[in-house]
Amino acid sequence: MTEKIFYQDSYQKAHQSEVVAVLDNGIVMESTIFYPLGGGQPGDTGVLMLQGKEYRVTETAYANDKVMIVHHLNADDLLAFKVGDQVDMVLDWERRHRHMRMHTSLHLMCHLITAQATGGSIGEINSRIDFDLQGQVVDKDNLTIKMNRLINRQLSVSIGSITDEALTKNPALVRTMSVQPPTGQGSVRTVTIVDTDYQPCGGTHVSNTAEIGEVIVTKIKNKGKQNKRISLALVNP
Ligand SMILES: [Zn+2]
Repeated sequence: MTEKIFYQDSYQKAHQSEVVAVLDNGIVMESTIFYPLGGGQPGDTGVLMLQGKEYRVTETAYANDKVMIVHHLNADDLLAFKVGDQVDMVLDWERRHRHMRMHTSLHLMCHLITAQATGGSIGEINSRIDFDLQGQVVDKDNLTIKMNRLINRQLSVSIGSITDEALTKNPALVRTMSVQPPTGQGSVRTVTIVDTDYQPCGGTHVSNTAEIGEVIVTKIKNKGKQNKRISLALVNP
């Protein structure tokens, strides 16, 4: 299992680790700061450094076993790596930080809209989240104002955990019908935004809503009979 440094410290930008496997699409290291694609959040990109040379990580994703995290490299670059190599890794931090800002803003949206989320996708500048609104009317400009009001309250964001048992007893905590949290390890990671939102989540987040900066709700679109797709963007990426 790859040790997830990005969960211990989502702000760590560089790290050194040892190669434990070379696969046909990328390499696996003992530990990593690279977030793997999942939960609507893209996988990280960045560079690996080995013997003074830089190699691009084009994507990060879980291997088929859902346990190992694979740093995808171009086929030619892959030839340079072998098991046991000590590798320095550096994140494309600006990109990752935008994902953290966008991701945290979607949690605020979950506080303002009480309906179940049925899907979502996080981008660097634009993100979207689908809600089963059940007839609830949402106004774009009003939602923008409320979002920025929450952001400006400088609410702190913290990470915790909930036992599988407690989560089973309180299924309403899960806000996304499409993505169920990974139970079976005894407990599940949770994210709390003070006074605002509390839910199981495996993504990376900023530690204070002030870091998100101003956002704008750009579009609310019908998506099926009851679903509405809400698009959100960072005003100052
Ligand atoms: Zn989250």
